[in-house]
Order: sequence, then C-alpha cells, then structure tokens
Amino acid sequence: MRTYAYGYPRLGENREFKRIIEGYWQGKVSEAELKQGVRALEQNRLTTYAQFVDAYPVGELTLYDNMLDTAIMLGVYPIDPADLTAYFQLARGADALPMTKWFNTNYHYLVSRLSPVSEFRSHWRKPLFALRRWFETEQFYHAPELSDAHFQARWNKPNEAHSGHRAGYPYLIGPYTFLRLSRGLEPAQRPAMLEKLTPVYSEILSSLKEAGAAYVHIDEPAFALDVPDAEVQAIRAAYQTLGQAAPILLFVYYDSVDFLPQLYDLPLAGIGLDLIHGKRNYDHIAQHGFPSDKILIAGVVDGRNVWKTDLAATAARIRQLQARTGATVWLSNAAPLAHLPVTVELETQLEPALRERIAFAKERLRELRLLKTLLTEGETAETRAWNAYHHPTDHWYSPAVQRRVADLKPEDFERALPYAERDKIQRERLKLPLFPTTTIGSFPQTPEVRQMRQAYRTGKITAQAYETYIQNQIRELIQFQESLGLDVLVHGEFERTDMVEFFAEKMHGIAFTQHGWLLSYGTRVYRPPIIYGDVARAEPMTLKETVFAQSLTQKPVKGMLTGPVTIIAWSYVREDIPVEQVAYQIALALNDEVRELEEAGIAIIQIDEPAYREKAPLKRADWDSYFRWAAQAFKLAARAKPETQIHTHMCYSDFNAVLHFIDWMDADVITMEAARSKGEVISAFEHYNYARQIGPGVFDVHTPAVPSVESIEAVMERAIRVFPKEQFWVNPDCGLKTRQWDEVVPALKNMVEAARNLRAKYGG
Ligand code: GLN
Ligand code: ZN
Repeated sequence: MRTYAYGYPRLGENREFKRIIEGYWQGKVSEAELKQGVRALEQNRLTTYAQFVDAYPVGELTLYDNMLDTAIMLGVYPIDPADLTAYFQLARGADALPMTKWFNTNYHYLVSRLSPVSEFRSHWRKPLFALRRWFETEQFYHAPELSDAHFQARWNKPNEAHSGHRAGYPYLIGPYTFLRLSRGLEPAQRPAMLEKLTPVYSEILSSLKEAGAAYVHIDEPAFALDVPDAEVQAIRAAYQTLGQAAPILLFVYYDSVDFLPQLYDLPLAGIGLDLIHGKRNYDHIAQHGFPSDKILIAGVVDGRNVWKTDLAATAARIRQLQARTGATVWLSNAAPLAHLPVTVELETQLEPALRERIAFAKERLRELRLLKTLLTEGETAETRAWNAYHHPTDHWYSPAVQRRVADLKPEDFERALPYAERDKIQRERLKLPLFPTTTIGSFPQTPEVRQMRQAYRTGKITAQAYETYIQNQIRELIQFQESLGLDVLVHGEFERTDMVEFFAEKMHGIAFTQHGWLLSYGTRVYRPPIIYGDVARAEPMTLKETVFAQSLTQKPVKGMLTGPVTIIAWSYVREDIPVEQVAYQIALALNDEVRELEEAGIAIIQIDEPAYREKAPLKRADWDSYFRWAAQAFKLAARAKPETQIHTHMCYSDFNAVLHFIDWMDADVITMEAARSKGEVISAFEHYNYARQIGPGVFDVHTPAVPSVESIEAVMERAIRVFPKEQFWVNPDCGLKTRQWDEVVPALKNMVEAARNLRAKYGG
C-alpha cells in the first residue's frame, strides 16, 4: 500500500509565492531572485511531500496558472518560456487571456482560445524539465533549453532514474480537460481536436518515459462533468494511444466519473478517484468492480474542506474496496490540496476546540500517513490521538437559531406580492428615469483606505478616528456620484476588506484564520472563513454606513449585502448539518439586516451572489436540487416589503443554461457581467423571456482602459433589442475596487453621458 498526494498549495506558508512574483512585477525582485525563490518553494513542496507520503507529482508549480502553461506547452501561444515578460504579458498584460472559474471552485484559470484549425506541437517541455530538475535539483524550467546531449549523457544510462522506484512523477493537465475548458470550439468539434492533440501528448509522454519517469500524473477533472458519448469514445481512443506511450496515473476529481467502466479496458496504470465529492464512484465500483491490473488511487482525504478525516471509518472503507476489487489501492487526497491553506500549525489564535478538529494541506499529508499506518500496522498512539478531541463544543450551537430554521414555513421564503405588482409600487416610490444609472458597490480601494483599515485593526488609530475617516470617504463619494448625475448611489464599501470576510466577521459561528490564504487567481489571495457553529448576526452589519450615506442625499442609496450562497461558497462549511440549513441560518441573519435597513428608510437593497452559478454541481442532473435550496436561501435573505427593491449581482460566469434558476431568486433587478464576454450574456436572454429588470454591465472593470461613450451606447443598443427598454439598467460589470480613480472618473462620466443620450433618443 502506498500513499500519494498532489496539488499541494504553491503559495507557501508565508505567502512567499505572492511576494516573489509581485516583487518581480514591481521591479523589486530580479529575475535571478525570482528563479531562486521559486526553486526554493518547489524544493520545499517536494520535501514536504517526501516527509509524509510515498509518491507525488513533480512540476506542478507554475508562475501563474497551469492552464496557461499547458497552452504554451502545446504551442497554442508559442512564446519563449524563458522570456518572462512575454509569459506575464499573456497572464496579465493589456491583451491577457480571459479568466474564468475553474470547475465549481473559486480558483480562476486563464482561458485559451482555440479554433477548429488550431494546430498543436510540443513547444515547451516543461514536464521534462521539471523531471530533470528534480533528478538534478538544479535546473529551472523557465530557462533556455539545455541540450538533450547533456541530459542523455547524464541520465540515459541504466541508473537509478530508471529504477522505477523514484517517487516523483511528472505532472500534466490532460488533453480532454484542456480542450473542454478552452473557448472557440463547438462540442461537436472536440473529438476531432482530441485526435489532433493525441500525437503531441504521445510525444510528451514518450519523452518523459525515456527520461526515466516511472509514471506520469495526468489530471482530467473534466471527466467529472457531463461528457457526451461521442466524447467518451474520443477519450477512449486518445488514451488507448497515450497509455502505450508511458505508464499513466489518471486523476479525476471534484465529482464522480459517469463513464468509469469505460476507462477499465484502457492501458492506464492507475486511476485516481475523488471518493469524497464523488460518492457515486463507490456505486460504480460496487456495480462494475475495478480492474485488478490497475492501481485504484483512492481520494479519501478531503481536498476542499477542513474537517479532519475519520481515520477508522476511512480505513474500514479502504479495506472494503480492497476486498471487493482485488486491485492495488493507494491512498490519496480527493481533489488538489491547493484548495486548503498550508498548515494549521500557524493558527495559534484559533479556539482550541476548532483547531483540534481541522486539517489543512500539510495535515492532510499527515492523515495519509496515519491511514497507511492504521491499515498496515494497526492502531498506534498517533492514530488514536488524531481524532481524540478534548474541548467541548456545545457553545457552538444555538437552540434559538436552530428553532428559527426548523420553524420556517413555505411562505417565509416568499415576498408578499409578485414581481409585477412590486414593480408598480417601486416605480411609484423611486421615480427613476428611463435607463437608470448605478454602480455595483465598491469604489477604488486606495492604498490610503487599506492603510487606515490596517491601522484600525492593529490598534494604531481609535475606532472613533477610523469611523470618521470612513464617513469622510462616504461623504466625498456621495458628492462625487451626485456631481456625475448617477441615479442610484452606493456608499462605496470602503470599510470592507473582502465581501465575504466582512460579513462573516460580524456573525457568530464563523471563525477566521490568520494565515489561511488561498489563491483565487495569479497571485491574488483570499482567506476563507470557517463556518463551524450555528450562525446568527452579532450586531447590525451595514446599517451605520448605509444610513449615513443616505442622510447625505435625496437620491436612493443602495444597501449592500453579500448573499448566503456566496458566503457559503467562499468559506469552509460545517458538515454535521445539511448545507441548506447553514444557508438558511445565514439567510436569516442577513434578513435581519434587510429589515433594519428598510426600517431606516433604505429603498433599494442589493444582495450580491457572484457564486450562485459557480457553486452549482458539475453535473446537470444535480442542478435542480442545488438551485432549489440556493434560490430559497436567497429569497429568505431577500424577503423585504413590496416597496423595497431587491437587486442582485453576479459576475464572470457562464449564464446560458441557468437563466431560469436565476428567475427562481425572485429579485427585482439583476446586474451582471456582459462587456468582457462581448455580450454573450445578452444573447442568452434572446432565448429566454426574462420579465424582470436587468443591468448587463456596459463596461469591463477588470481592465484599465476607459470605455468610450460610443462603446457604451453600442452595448445598450444591443441590449434594448433584447429587453424592453423599461427593464434596462446602466451599470459597470462589477465593483470598482480594483480600479484607479483616474480610470473610474472618466469611465463613469461616459456611462452617464451614454445613458443620457439614449434617454433623449428613446424618450422617457
Ligand atoms: N458589491 C461588490 C463590489 O462592488 C460585488 C463584488 C463582486 O461581485 N465580486 O465590490
Ligand atoms: Zn461582480
């Protein structure tokens, strides 16, 4: 029995990755220092693996994103990988590749654009370099290529590299996942493209085998999606060939593989399955067995949530698998460990009762080792100690909160009047012009704003001084928005670090780590809270700032909340009760806030749900039950009086297939991303009769470019061909917090001007 782990976080215990790469972008870190730093990180990762598990991939590290690296490897973007300027240009330059959410996670990858005539070749031998570097622990893979002769002289002799017992296997993203997650191909074109990619992957695999790789690790998480039969056949054909080029360990995670039995007769050395989030894999195995000539790499420790693994129960399940299949079983993590922070060791401030119940990436490695001990040697003091918690946890639970959820009746989820009637009342109350203009909530978070927040958090300035500072920011922003002539104003979110962290900090039952950072894209990090107990609002969360902002203007100021689904999606969630109960608890806490905002005279409340789409399960068959509770939770949070207008906001997702689930939310107005996807969102509405109001973003907030009046009018003209003009709102794609003031000012001026022009044209 072996242990195998993969996907260890690249960020480093102290966010070294972020510091090195951003330092390089800012010119504070030289190229040599960057290479040195990254090498040290990779070294550290491999040493950590080696400390706990028997085998692991080499070459998982990337300077930005592995999907980007795959595209370069395959010659889609044939830059010289040693040219880091060109590399980072693709990742974050003016013409950077678009990014989108990676499966149902909050990690964003860079999306390649392909066409049916795209050609591939082995352009960058990154995995080979990584393997050789691992052999030599010297070579950096973003480097000018060294001659093959050098390596042949060194490695292509019958030496230990060929012994097959080396523990590091080169890492690749598989061809199907790469194609499936790229844009520009119709599904019907994928089989032919897979056929085109096969010889290129074959070549890569052969070279790895020749260089001494005992196995090659290939990630194919896209196998967990709904895969049409024609594509299953194409996958089979591809792996029939690839499996002959090198011994492959194929990994599928995030859910089960519907066509698992169809992989059984392929020449694969092993199949890694997610047995935590893909429980149906157990059913497939129960029904079809597992081939005895393959390694079953059982993903049994959770890569996506933090609760310790029940070692005894897991060991029993492994024994069952062994007995049932007769296959060689390896123990592994289910899903890459990068969805977890590095280690609990650093969390000295966590309540002990919580601390002793959780595991991050490093602790997952320890669990794998303990599981192996348990299965091969039996119980030891260490295996026994792992799940022996000492601290009582009753104080995590609130009978009052539980009762509130238990007492919910169907009508508690519904507003008193249907949308059409609310719409009339709200128009009467708000008296907004045709094409009302607004923003999504946040305004530039300048270094000064961040410094003040930090100074307050560390006690350098008093609460009073901080509050005064925030009030001044709000006052200036209200004046600014009035001077622009925006119709619905916001307070600017200056007091918020992060849209989930801010709310979670104000709720009971949710904890914060100090070092639990995850990458959301590139070098951008966030710290997911841990929802461990019953959730309730500790105090009003947004009332003060919102009411203050409203006191400064006659125009409506939107209250701004983060919705229950997004709070859950970007946190670690307790598993002792069903997730919808957690969602309802959060929704009730948010609804308390909604009620108080209404009482205080706030007429419009926006409840952001950017994760509503992303949190959806990978397989369509599971959508109904997910969207049912997700929409219910939103509606519970949003249950306001008919005269209160409820907005929601979503971004950077593929909305095509989910419009009717968005309807289920029963919001009055929805704002969403549209500019970056060049209006794809709008065309989705051509086929769906959406009766409510909608603000498809008229400019992209993730680029510094200032949109022209004409470009904004063009988006508007396009939209009002699809929606009745009375339903249409004018707003940017998303919040403005990552922008500079000198970009925001002209952009919003142009937006207001475009709205005025069209108002004149279409009458109001
Ligand atoms: N109201 C938030 C903001 O403006 C929404 C952010 C988001 O959609 N991710 O920043
Ligand atoms: Zn957004």
